[in-house]
Amino acid sequence: MAKILCVLYDDPVGGYPTSHARDDIPTLDRYPGGQTLPTPEAIDFVPGELLGSVSGELGLRKFLEGLGHTLVVTSDKDGADSVFERELPDADIVISQPFWPAYLTAERIAGAPKLRLAVTAGIGSDHVDLQAAMDKGLTVAEVTYSNSISVSEHVVMLILSLVRNYIPSYQWVINGGWNIADCVDRSYDLEGMTVGTVGAGRIGTAVLRRLKPFDVNLHYTDRHRLPESVERELGLTFHPSAESMVRVCDVVTVNAPLHPETEHMFNDALIGEMKRGAYLVNTARGKICDRDAVARALESGQLAGYAGDVWFPQPPPKDHPWRTMPHHGMTPHVSGTSLSAQARYAAGVREILECWLEGRSIREEYLIVDNGRLAGAGAHSYSAGDATGGSKEAERFGQ
Ligand code: NDP
Repeated sequence: MAKILCVLYDDPVGGYPTSHARDDIPTLDRYPGGQTLPTPEAIDFVPGELLGSVSGELGLRKFLEGLGHTLVVTSDKDGADSVFERELPDADIVISQPFWPAYLTAERIAGAPKLRLAVTAGIGSDHVDLQAAMDKGLTVAEVTYSNSISVSEHVVMLILSLVRNYIPSYQWVINGGWNIADCVDRSYDLEGMTVGTVGAGRIGTAVLRRLKPFDVNLHYTDRHRLPESVERELGLTFHPSAESMVRVCDVVTVNAPLHPETEHMFNDALIGEMKRGAYLVNTARGKICDRDAVARALESGQLAGYAGDVWFPQPPPKDHPWRTMPHHGMTPHVSGTSLSAQARYAAGVREILECWLEGRSIREEYLIVDNGRLAGAGAHSYSAGDATGGSKEAERFGQ
């Protein structure tokens, strides 16, 4: 029998909800491009419920305990005294969400001899030291596509909120004011601007498609070029490097995974290549941007705005400069964990566990590492190596 250790974010401060704002969520047939949604044999939750917090348990307890397995769910994930570190040494499977990542560092993997499978409830497995996972022959799987469209909607919202100066204007209302000039002093139209994405995979392409009706000039850079038909349909300009793309963009959105190739890609040098007053939106991973370089660029005016929901580490310490830098539109890591997305990735985790526990193959598109090698989605989008370094700083969040 297996021990499954699942790390989820805390319940709402007011307690686990007994009802939600809406009674249902739309039922989707397929993802864009034709990939099927998760196909578990059954689910033990109602789509639209809060599944990603501790009491939601991703809807897994009945299923796993019914088969005689042990499920441990906790939010306590950082530090030597955490429940995660205490429970890890005899765990067979770890499940974690990128929003509240249980950093599976090389040391932690070395201290978990029974561990065979790390499942990401969502997309983006950089919280696992993938090099250590490969060295130890682990399997790493994620629920590819489960929240890609959720994030793309969020990216469009963030771009519009920065360019149109939405957040400060909202704040004037909350503060009882009517200061129109203060609101519009930094407000522009998106129409006619040049918008570029670093990474044109599932999220990046969905962002481009959603921005097309805004009559903007669309640019992208990626390791693989999109089909010519897509470039023509969306009027895309391809750049062989991020350097060449950012020079012409008014808005840059980052939609590539964090791996050694992209870590700290947006440093002083690359931000220095951007147009003065450009906007940078990063919902991919915090570490793709150099923390202090972003803060400096907002202070100096090199960037007119920065927004996103991804930080490093997560949760960030109270003194993380992105909490207080000017002209930012940061939130906690939320874009990929709408209630709609949770229903899809909870079902996907169930599908992965059913396959694993019955000795069936996990879908190729869900695989990041298999049998010690990058595989499936991982082989396409990641490079070998580790990007979890420094994650211990998350322990400082509560201080
Ligand atoms: P995909 O794998 O579909 O797309 C990622 C794209 O990035 C691929 O086209 C890949 O290239 C490209 N890429 C990789 N390395 C580079 C590089 N060095 N330069 C330029 N492009 C590069 O993933 P998704 O679009 O679904 O997700 C992207 C990332 O977004 C995830 O890895 C995750 O980190 C983040 N994410 C954030 C969420 C949130 O809640 N904020 C939720 C979900 C995801 P190719 O494959 O062509 O080699």
